[in-house]
Amino acid sequence: MKCTILTVGTELLFGHTVNTDAVYLSQKLNLMGIDVMYHHTVGDNPGRLEEMLRFALERCDLVITTGGTGPTQDDLTKEVICKVQKDVLCEDAHSMQRLIDHFAQRKRPMTENNKKQALMPSRAVVFDNDHGTAPGFALECEGKTVICLPGPPSELNPMFEESVAPYLAKRTSGAIYYRTVRTFGLGESLLETKLLPLIDGQTDPTLATYAKEGEATVRVASKRATLAEAKAAVDEMVERVRGYVGDYIYSTEDEGLPAVVGKKLIERGLTMSCAESCTGGMIAAKMTDIPGISAVFERGIVTYSNRAKMEELGVSEATLKQYGAVSSQTAEEMVRGLRKKTGSRVCVSVTGVAGPGGGTAEKPVGLIYIGVMVDERMEISELRTNNTNRSWNRNYTMLFALNQVNRMIDEMKINVTEK
Ligand code: ATP
Repeated sequence: MKCTILTVGTELLFGHTVNTDAVYLSQKLNLMGIDVMYHHTVGDNPGRLEEMLRFALERCDLVITTGGTGPTQDDLTKEVICKVQKDVLCEDAHSMQRLIDHFAQRKRPMTENNKKQALMPSRAVVFDNDHGTAPGFALECEGKTVICLPGPPSELNPMFEESVAPYLAKRTSGAIYYRTVRTFGLGESLLETKLLPLIDGQTDPTLATYAKEGEATVRVASKRATLAEAKAAVDEMVERVRGYVGDYIYSTEDEGLPAVVGKKLIERGLTMSCAESCTGGMIAAKMTDIPGISAVFERGIVTYSNRAKMEELGVSEATLKQYGAVSSQTAEEMVRGLRKKTGSRVCVSVTGVAGPGGGTAEKPVGLIYIGVMVDERMEISELRTNNTNRSWNRNYTMLFALNQVNRMIDEMKINVTEK
C-alpha cells in the first residue's frame, strides 16, 4: 500500500512547529509494511488543501492528514476531505454524546463551534479521541482511503496506536522488519563503498547508509509476507554486512556507544574513571546517563587547567612545560595519574584543542590526545579532526574515546563475570 502523509497547518510552513507528526507516522507506517511515498505540508487554506489531496490520491492508495480538525473557522480539513471523497458531513450521535460528556465532566460550557467537531462524513469509520475533542476518521471512496487525524501529537499518537493501526492492519499484507547497524571510524561514503557489493542491485533486504555526527549507520530492511521471514532475511544480511565492515561495527541493535560500553562495563564488573580537559565532563555525563552505571562508574574529573592536571592527576610541571598540555606525554601522565588515584580498571584521559580558536601551526584546532588504560594495557591516540567546530570536536572525541574502550575490552577478551 502506497501512502502520502499530508500535514495541515500554517504554523508548520512558518517553521513555528516542528513536523513531528510526519516523523511519527512514517516510522509507524513503515513498520506496518506501508510504503510512505510522499510528505506534503499545506497551510490552513481549503483551496490548496483540496489541490494537494487530489494530487496525493492520484499517486497513492492512502492519504493520512493531520491537523485542522479543531472547532475554529480555519479548521477545514474535514470539509475538504468530504468534498474530494464525495460525501457529506452529518452529526455523528456517538461523537456528539462523547463531546457532551467531555464538557459536562469538566463543567465547561459547550459552544456552537464545539458541536462542529461531532460532524462526521456519513460513510466514515470514526476514531474516538480520548485525549482531546476532535475525533479522527477514515473515509473510503473508489478504492482510495483518506484518514483524518488531529494535529497535536498527544492526541494523534494514542489515536494511531489504538484505532488507526488496527484499522490499517486489516487492509495491509506483509510485514517490514529492520535493524540498524552502527559503525564508528568510517565516513558514510567509505562505508557505502565497502558495502557496494551488497548494495548494488539490492531489492530485498535493502541497505541504506546514513551519517550521524562522527558515526555512520546502515539500516537493513526487509518486507516479506510474514514478520518471521523478514526477520530471517535481515538477520542474514546483517551477518553479511559484518563480513565487510565488522571491525568498525559497535552495535547491530541501534544502541549508542555510551550504552554499548556501559553494558560491557556492568556485565564484566569493570570500574571506570575519566579525566577530561577539552571534553569538559562530556564522557562522564554520557556514561552517567546509563541506568545502573553506578555499579561501575567511579568518577569523572574535569582537569581543565594545568594546575588541575598537576593537582588532581600528578602530571609533572616539566612535562607540561616541555611538551604542552596538548601532547601525548600529558595524556599519558593524566591517565596514569588517574589510575593511581582511583584504581579503576578502565581509565580515560582527554586533552586537546576543541576550537574554534586557540590553535597554532604546530597544534591546530582539532588536535586531541586520548589516553585509555584497560587493566595494564595502555593506548595513547592522536586525533586530528581538521574541524574547527567546538561542539563537533568535543562530541567526536567522546565517541572516539568510548570506541577505544569498547575495542580494547573486546580485544583483551575480558569475560563477563559470573553472577
Ligand atoms: P485541535 O483539535 O487542538 O484544534 P487540530 O487537529 O485542529 O487540533 P491544529 O490546530 O492544526 O490541529 O494544530 C494544533 C496543534 O497541534 C499545533 O499548534 C501544534 O502544536 C500541533 N501540531 C499540529 N500539526 C502538527 C505536526 N504536523 N507535527 C507536530 N505537531 C503538530
